[in-house]
Amino acid sequence: MGARYDLPEADAFTRTYWDAAARGVLLLRHCGTCDRVHHYPREFCPRCWSEDVSWSPATGRATLHTWSVVHRNDLPPFKDRTPYVAAVVDLAEGPRMMTEIVDCAHEDLRAGLELEAVFLGGVPRFRPRRGQGRGGGGRRLCL
Ligand SMILES: [Zn+2]
Repeated sequence: MGARYDLPEADAFTRTYWDAAARGVLLLRHCGTCDRVHHYPREFCPRCWSEDVSWSPATGRATLHTWSVVHRNDLPPFKDRTPYVAAVVDLAEGPRMMTEIVDCAHEDLRAGLELEAVFLGGVPRFRPRRGQGRGGGGRRLCL
């Protein structure tokens, strides 16, 4: 089997994060000194440099900040997945996260779209939050 570029390589520090993701939980890092959260996970707080940081579960809610529809990626196995949506989302807790948007027609993507985490193969991705609409039109926002 050739190299794959879509699977996480957990180490001693990030194993907790990936184990939680496999259970459908998105973890952030919370700083006990300045009471802020950050992502991606670090062993110290990027705001105040404190090492008093611990894992903290996120709500899984986010809004879409920006995105790009990827039509070409030659790294396996992405070639078989195009087109897909690479995105940056604003987590409800504050940090930004690079991710992928799934279950949404590309023409329905818009800044501020309300999202929820969905875990596919143990990797967190985001999809439009169920139950939202544009108000009154009754149009299905996403597939
Ligand atoms: Zn801090």
